[in-house]
Amino acid sequence: SAARDFLEEESLLDSGLLKGMVLAANVGSPGDLALVQKFKAQGVGLYRTEFLFMGEKLPAEEEQMAAYQQVISACAPHLTVIRTLDIGGDKKAPALQLPEEKNPFLGVRALRLTLRRPELFRQQLRAIWRAAASGPTAVMFPMIATMEELFQAKEMLRVSRDEVIQAGYPVGELQVGMMIEIPSAAWMADKFAAEVDFFSIGTNDLTQYMLAVDRENNDLSDLYQPNHPAVLGMIARVSEAGLRAGIWTGVCGEAGGDALLAPFFAAVGIKELSMAAGSLPKVRRVLANLELSTEEKRSLVDAVLACATASEVKDVLQRFSSKS
Ligand code: PEP
Ligand code: MG
Repeated sequence: SAARDFLEEESLLDSGLLKGMVLAANVGSPGDLALVQKFKAQGVGLYRTEFLFMGEKLPAEEEQMAAYQQVISACAPHLTVIRTLDIGGDKKAPALQLPEEKNPFLGVRALRLTLRRPELFRQQLRAIWRAAASGPTAVMFPMIATMEELFQAKEMLRVSRDEVIQAGYPVGELQVGMMIEIPSAAWMADKFAAEVDFFSIGTNDLTQYMLAVDRENNDLSDLYQPNHPAVLGMIARVSEAGLRAGIWTGVCGEAGGDALLAPFFAAVGIKELSMAAGSLPKVRRVLANLELSTEEKRSLVDAVLACATASEVKDVLQRFSSKS
């Protein structure tokens, strides 16, 4: 029965590798909240806000605030991580009337767009500051490649907070984080870690940019390898930089919901996995049933990072999961 399932899941929360790990859900609109609740996510690790901007006309500040509040209050006391607009590349927004580009995935995408449209950006940030008054909230910036972009984004965040206060509205508290999905940012994680409260690794784009393979091109799907040792090595590097700086690191790309990779992520010190809600039960079970000493974690990570190919990684992880 549903009541029994719930008790079983509750009893898992403190076992094995689930200790100290948050399992959260990704949402694309408030319509996904039913699944967040059904699968008992511990908050939302990625709230994609693009849905508000894909229609005929752009959303007003109030409409944005209401959409953010709805998710924040449903998830409280857990954290909701709101990602600022990530239009461009695979995500179109006709109302923004963006010029055609030759290489949209390498073009004016995500934060690159919002930094070039400061009015649009500050409006979204004001809506987020106001919504944050209704529960634990974080904001994160997508597609950061350089430190200057992070400084500019944080400056916009300060300005928009002042604007909300000037307008006489209450402001909430915000954790401030960034996505790690471009290799330059991943490589420089030590520098970035001093400037943010958390990292969230976007494995979909990190894989695309590390292997130089279009994430949407079906002809290249065999080359699109989130479990390639270079990608996993980069993830380990980022998580370790976060640990050194005392900030938390999550994974919010599709790989975050891959039960085979979950023990590796736990072993490198990832603190939150955020995934499509339907993947939660399986990942939860795998982590709850696994207890690893510090040494066992080290040897799992070493074995994965010693691999030369993605298929070797898969073999290592499969052997590991059948043993445990
Ligand atoms: C990612 O790139 O892994 C990610 C979570 O963002 P999106 O899939 O929305 O680009
Ligand atoms: Mg991305």
